[in-house]
Amino acid sequence: MSGGILTVAECRSGRLVRASLEVLGAARQLPATVTGGLSAVIVGAEGSLATEELGARGAATVYLIGDAALAHCTTEVHVRAISSVLTELQPEMVLLPDSAYGRDVASRLSARHNVGLATACVGLSETPKGQPLAERSVFGGRFIERVTWSAAPRLATLKAGVFAVPPAGPVRRPTLLRRDVAREARVCVVSVEPSKTSGRMRPDIEEARVVVAAGRGLGTAERVRLVEELADALGAALGASRAVVDLGWLDHQHQVGQTGRSVAPELYFACGISGAIQHLAGIGSARIIVAINHDPEAPIFGAANYGIVGEVEVILPRLSAALRAMSAEAAGAGE
Ligand code: FAD
Repeated sequence: MSGGILTVAECRSGRLVRASLEVLGAARQLPATVTGGLSAVIVGAEGSLATEELGARGAATVYLIGDAALAHCTTEVHVRAISSVLTELQPEMVLLPDSAYGRDVASRLSARHNVGLATACVGLSETPKGQPLAERSVFGGRFIERVTWSAAPRLATLKAGVFAVPPAGPVRRPTLLRRDVAREARVCVVSVEPSKTSGRMRPDIEEARVVVAAGRGLGTAERVRLVEELADALGAALGASRAVVDLGWLDHQHQVGQTGRSVAPELYFACGISGAIQHLAGIGSARIIVAINHDPEAPIFGAANYGIVGEVEVILPRLSAALRAMSAEAAGAGE
């Protein structure tokens, strides 16, 4: 009997990340060839909340591995745990978010089980012969590559923001299968602290509804503060181009693009970013892009929905001040 589809859910700070639910949405749209049940596996989560959410979004079975303490273990331990579920369930497909976590886990599973992996997929369907087929966006989104797998389990990571989160159904409890895993690892996480250049805690760029991103056009490290102020006024996450990361103005976790992270916000501000193809590769799923650049010919304007031609050091403080004034006015009206 087919083991159906297994989705790997990701938890951050005790919360299921949105991309885990999008993966369930993608699995639910798959053709009958790979049906046989929809399961989810989650490592290192508090039990009931995550399980109920996964059940409400369509998972019939949830493998819950370990406890919250496992959240701080390295992927070495997580992969060992998920790999044992693959061996037990023998799924046709395994779907993961295309996040840093998902890519790390998926590539290790692919090596362990000696099966094919399609990364950063933007579509899932089937061939005329009824075999599962994945679509990948390549060369900065200029081409769509179609790939199939020669054997099960077929592994795929799915780009954030492409597949819809399935609506929550009536609360139903999925079959809960608890498993544990040996926790010994070659590398152990001692503690997790915000990095110096991250400053105060802000939303994660992969999860955020608004991302404000800094580019080399800011001119100096000090001017990153102008981008931070706009992010704070909007309750947004802080993104960066690779140039900004290479200059050491912000950490790599903020980098958006081909060698950084993909974002799928409702609103993306590109501040002093030229719009190189490698940067655009990370913002293809953003709904509205606003670009601020003093060069009217900058390629970013070709991708943007709204463009402001001007100096970032002039525009950003004005935007932040206007937003703060609007918030103050709204708060005043509510009193
Ligand atoms: P620049 O290209 O220097 O652009 C700065 C922009 O700011 C210009 O358009 C300029 O007109 C404008 N500007 C200057 N001063 C002002 C001002 N005062 N006010 C307003 N505008 C101003 N890049 C990424 O971002 N993410 C990636 O993941 C990534 N991966 C890569 C992978 C590979 C294999 C390679 C080769 C490159 C990669 N890059 C990536 C680098 C990419 O090619 C660009 O070099 C980078 O995106 C440029 O960053 P930027 O737009 O901040 O800087």
